[in-house]
Amino acid sequence: MNKERMYSEFMELVTTDSASGKEAAVAEKLIPKLEELGFTVSRDNAGDLFGGECGNVIGIREGELDGAILLSSHMDRVPEGLGIKPVEKDGVLYSDGTTILAADDISGVCAILEGVRGALATGKPLPRIEIVFSVGEELNLWGAKGMDVSMLKSRIGYMFDSPGRTGRVINGAPGRYDLDVEIFGKPAHAGNEPEKGIDAAKIMCDMISTLKQGRLDFESTANFPILKTGSTARNVVCDYAMFQGETRSRSRQKLLDYVAYFEDHCKKVAEAAGAEIKITKYEGFLPFLIPEDDEVMVVVKKACEAVGIECKVEVGGGGMDANIYNAKGMFTVGVATGYSKNHTKNEQLILEDYYKSGELAQKIIETYAERCESK
Ligand SMILES: [Zn+2]
Repeated sequence: MNKERMYSEFMELVTTDSASGKEAAVAEKLIPKLEELGFTVSRDNAGDLFGGECGNVIGIREGELDGAILLSSHMDRVPEGLGIKPVEKDGVLYSDGTTILAADDISGVCAILEGVRGALATGKPLPRIEIVFSVGEELNLWGAKGMDVSMLKSRIGYMFDSPGRTGRVINGAPGRYDLDVEIFGKPAHAGNEPEKGIDAAKIMCDMISTLKQGRLDFESTANFPILKTGSTARNVVCDYAMFQGETRSRSRQKLLDYVAYFEDHCKKVAEAAGAEIKITKYEGFLPFLIPEDDEVMVVVKKACEAVGIECKVEVGGGGMDANIYNAKGMFTVGVATGYSKNHTKNEQLILEDYYKSGELAQKIIETYAERCESK
């Protein structure tokens, strides 16, 4: 691992403007870097899913060993990530206070590049290495959703995209469903003949007030904060209302059970009041939890040991590209690269951790290679 190279590569990429849907400038810089390392690079159409200017950058290097490993990070960043001017203070990088730092997730991109360079420099036989630099992660995991995983042969993957000290590994994350309900009532004069109307606003309130929500159990939540009606006049019975929210759970079954309960509940309330409803369900992502004895975990634990850092296994709280890969059948965990307070102007990156994340990427590849060789 070459600290100076990692430092200057981070500066180069973080000062290249990027945003969700506007990743082309970073992509243009990454493609030659991958090609120089012997990767065959292609780009897909994942950007079309959300009106982005480009797709995922996919680099594949055929290996000398049987076996394949996925390393991934994302090229986009949350808003306020343009014109970044990093400032170093006591071994920690910050922005100048006017932007984010975008260590989420440029640090992950650089860790992967450096890890591959290190592994190649050993001259030892390696497995097939698959790298995905994704688009639109911060918006809605678009890159991973659009990724055609039939291009990939890896069963295990490492998403270099998690906050915390290097050595933190995220082996699980909740899933999320978005839920919308529209209620179609019937208008009537509110003074003359209210009994001839069907009050959509009241039905909406009945639905919500009798709905299980908030913290459902230790691993599940539901929240419905957006309420609207079609009414602008107080003398007409409300003929249209709608509300929107979400549910999350670390258990896939509980997530699906809640969605079914929610539908059933809303239908019953509507039926009793004689109203029609329309429910729209949108699967944001499914949860995952990878057992600690799975190969993906065994490899990362050994790699942490080789780097001399503690491996801290935790379940994360949000969605990430790994949710999508796991749902598509690839066992993928999140790997921290030393950043914290991401998505804010106080974002920071501990440089020692960042350098170690490059070393960790290398050791992950090497550890997996050794396992392929001994098979
Ligand atoms: Zn990220």
